[in-house]
Amino acid sequence: MGWPRKYRERKITAICEECNEKFVKKQDTHKYCSPECSSNKWKRLYKSVVPKGEMYSDAVKKKWGLGKQINCPHCSKSFEKKHMTQKYCDVECRKEATFNAQLLKAEQKREEDKKYVE
Ligand SMILES: [Zn+2]
Ligand SMILES: [Zn+2]
Repeated sequence: MGWPRKYRERKITAICEECNEKFVKKQDTHKYCSPECSSNKWKRLYKSVVPKGEMYSDAVKKKWGLGKQINCPHCSKSFEKKHMTQKYCDVECRKEATFNAQLLKAEQKREEDKKYVE
């Protein structure tokens, strides 16, 4: 078993979403040329959501539904939303859900590769 030869030898280049440099992907999920670029992007995204100091003001709480009971899309458990971008009830659930999504992606990729390799 193992990956098809073509897959291993195929070099996938991509454009870094942060600095627009070309780079060779080591993983299909890579979007940035370096960890720095990835963290820069996250910092900016995070900053743009809510200005510092207004993080837990009532308006912000209302806008993002903080303190509300929502259902986890992974285990369907109901929980109180504490962070603006929170979707899952806890870290474990989020990990599992994103891991599953990655597996699914990899599976789809493999299906595509089958056509490619014959
Ligand atoms: Zn970059
Ligand atoms: Zn959950």
